[in-house]
Amino acid sequence: MSNLVPTATAEACVSEPASTPILQALPGRLTDVGGLPIRRLLPRSARRLVGPWCFLDSYGPLTFASGKPMDIGPHPHLGLQTVSWLLEGELVHHDSLGCEGPAGPGVLNVMTAGRGIAHSEETPAPNSGRLRGVQLWVALPDAHRETTPAFEQHRELPTLDLDGGRATVLMGELGGVHSPARSFSPVVGAEVVGAPDRSLVIPLQPAFEHVLVPLQGAWELAGQALAIDTLHYLGSGRRELVLSAQAEPSHILLLGGAPFGEAILMWWNFVARTTDEIVAAREDWQAGRRFGEVEAYGGARLEAPPFVARPHRP
Ligand code: MN
Repeated sequence: MSNLVPTATAEACVSEPASTPILQALPGRLTDVGGLPIRRLLPRSARRLVGPWCFLDSYGPLTFASGKPMDIGPHPHLGLQTVSWLLEGELVHHDSLGCEGPAGPGVLNVMTAGRGIAHSEETPAPNSGRLRGVQLWVALPDAHRETTPAFEQHRELPTLDLDGGRATVLMGELGGVHSPARSFSPVVGAEVVGAPDRSLVIPLQPAFEHVLVPLQGAWELAGQALAIDTLHYLGSGRRELVLSAQAEPSHILLLGGAPFGEAILMWWNFVARTTDEIVAAREDWQAGRRFGEVEAYGGARLEAPPFVARPHRP
């Protein structure tokens, strides 16, 4: 997806990891784009990076009888990976490399933007008339942010069996189980499903900072209720989490990674380091350079929003 609620100025994002276990709850900021409810969970003024994770929108649940609730025309990305994961419904990805990625629940789409790519994402026809999912971005570290653009789709993902549930590993590694998706810095992204009225223990890397985002059902962390579509920042220094699910189906997203340690500048769909890079990328998109064309998409490409350069304090 595109960043559908862009700001005119870039947002400076730095790692501010808590070095001890904490619990900071940040409810999603709700917007409605063409009837599709979207909750922005990252970046937030109180929490901009979690490991390399720099963007998280949760959308739906939505039921519809006609039309395309998701119809994001061609738009550019730079310096990041997009990670698309659905709980219900369908989407189809097309990009300027000529890749097509039809996805539904259990199918992972990962696009490495590197030095620049364009893509579209839309509801296909026919469809189930339902939509619920998350869109995530991972910032690429400086050493890899100019990497060759690529798209990968994984229809079989490894799972970690837990007492009381199961984790599907989307990105990075959890409990010795590795995602097949390419990643560029130490990271974990997993969808955890819990059995009702059971407690569930998830092993963690203490050096990572983590968040939990309940997507469905009713969850508790060590006896404390966790609200749906709320970012729960957990800090670092934890060896495990003890969760319990009270309802079925119960889905929760676990994200984390080594503190990113590099300051990034985010604007629209770009992760950069300097204002000049953003200006150049915006001009290249508007002029039809660098990012390529998404030939499989039937409609118009997105225009870049206005950009207002502003000095940033480190
Ligand atoms: Mn996108």
